[in-house]
Amino acid sequence: MSRAIFWFRRDLRLADNPALLAAIANSDEIVPVFILDQKLIKQTGSKRLAYLGQSLRSLDESLDNKLHVMVGDQVQVLTDLIKRYDVTEVHISEEFEPYGKARDIRVEKAGIKLVRTGSPYAVAPGRVRKPSDGTPYKVYTPFYNAWCVHGWRAPVLAPKQIKAVTPNESDRNFPDWPLPEGTTITPAGEKAAHERWKWFKKNGLDFYDEQRNNAGIDGTSKLSAHLKWGEIHPRTLLADLNETKAHTVYRKEIAWREFYADVLFHNPHTESDYYAAKFKEMRYDDPGKKFKAWSEGKTGYPFVDAAMRQLIKEGWMHNRTRMVVASFLVKDLHLEWQLGADFFMEHLVDFDVASNAHGWQWTAGCGTDASPYYRVFNPIEQGKRFDEDGAYIRKYVPELAHLSNSEIHEPWLYLDGYLHDYPERIVDHAVERLESLARLQEIKADKPAMPEK
Ligand SMILES: Cc1cc2nc3c(=O)[nH]c(=O)nc-3n(C[C@H](O)[C@H](O)[C@H](O)COP(=O)(O)OP(=O)(O)OC[C@H]3O[C@@H](n4cnc5c(N)ncnc54)[C@H](O)[C@@H]3O)c2cc1C
Repeated sequence: MSRAIFWFRRDLRLADNPALLAAIANSDEIVPVFILDQKLIKQTGSKRLAYLGQSLRSLDESLDNKLHVMVGDQVQVLTDLIKRYDVTEVHISEEFEPYGKARDIRVEKAGIKLVRTGSPYAVAPGRVRKPSDGTPYKVYTPFYNAWCVHGWRAPVLAPKQIKAVTPNESDRNFPDWPLPEGTTITPAGEKAAHERWKWFKKNGLDFYDEQRNNAGIDGTSKLSAHLKWGEIHPRTLLADLNETKAHTVYRKEIAWREFYADVLFHNPHTESDYYAAKFKEMRYDDPGKKFKAWSEGKTGYPFVDAAMRQLIKEGWMHNRTRMVVASFLVKDLHLEWQLGADFFMEHLVDFDVASNAHGWQWTAGCGTDASPYYRVFNPIEQGKRFDEDGAYIRKYVPELAHLSNSEIHEPWLYLDGYLHDYPERIVDHAVERLESLARLQEIKADKPAMPEK
């Protein structure tokens, strides 16, 4: 009887999981295991932990209660399981971000053979390169074009049957991570991911290009947490897309995730450091009260505050408002992007190291985008444009719910704007915009920071 371990990490699913198929094909019985990583748990906020707890339960259910959930150092846990079950191979989907990659190398150095099949991406980071000289792309659009040309495999089906060893009671260390009071998160697990995708295909995908920026409606796929934990693979989504405008825009968003994973793969320091190094020299302020107001959703700018409160309550924020609050932190409050990125890391259920670091750097102007100078988001105009009827603000900022659609974006203009103790603006956007441009000028960032060759 031969046995192989299948080590689940960011691939908590059975369908379209080539690494799982490889483990099954190469053994008579598999040992499915998830190892709770104390280091990652320490830096993970309670909403994401609650989500992971639910996702593990859901995975276990699809495995007929055969999932081993282990606590301890990965080398130790795997060594013990290999010995106990007389295992020959440990199968994984390959990791590319700095922490996961280093962990796998450490495991291998300890003498454990890892068999890598597939990755959390349609095209693994590092594959798409410039045909002219083999260097990686630094700008999204040419990357996207080359990524499409490279192409990806079709999804594979879930295994028909999984023969797995039955764990002992002591192998079933399912964490008890409750959801903080007053918060709600998207339902976790492979089944929930497929249900949401089905719903979105029917109700949102064909209008995605028109609706994706409207913060007040359910117009995006909300699959980011499912993708983060690998409950659904991007290949599965790509396989359902056609060539219409709406579907193409959606494909392009999937490609942003792949682009940022590629950029981080080639520039691992940009997880927490500046992609465009000269931004390190810029004058930044001390966080103090300004950061506190931003993180509590009390800046006095309704669209910004609604977004921050959505994040705290739901562990998710609309993409449009992620850009608005990030711009506000960096360009109106003059704080370093890493402060905001760390706050997002704590609260986002879909936290992804590459998309988060580079989403922040793009907005801050120090990332892969070539024209940071022009982009200082106006938090009032953004609200008027992308939450025209104020539904988003009204939902998350009840102090402003009594105002009409046109009043809600500028409560300071109306006599009853502060009737319910909504905070006054902590800064004046018009003044801070100029200040931000002056600081950019000091480091000569008014020219494209990273021109594409
Ligand atoms: C400052 C900032 C921080 C961000 N942090 C994260 C993060 O930690 N985790 C994360 O998954 N996304 C992050 N994003 C990207 C984006 O906001 C989310 O992926 C998106 O809002 C998730 O909602 P959705 O699934 O409904 O997206 P949809 O609009 O339905 O898009 C489908 C999928 O495409 C991918 N995608 C869409 N937009 C982007 C983008 N701009 N960059 C990378 N991938 C994208 C996501 O995987 C998303 O689930 C960040 C963006 C910004 C500006």
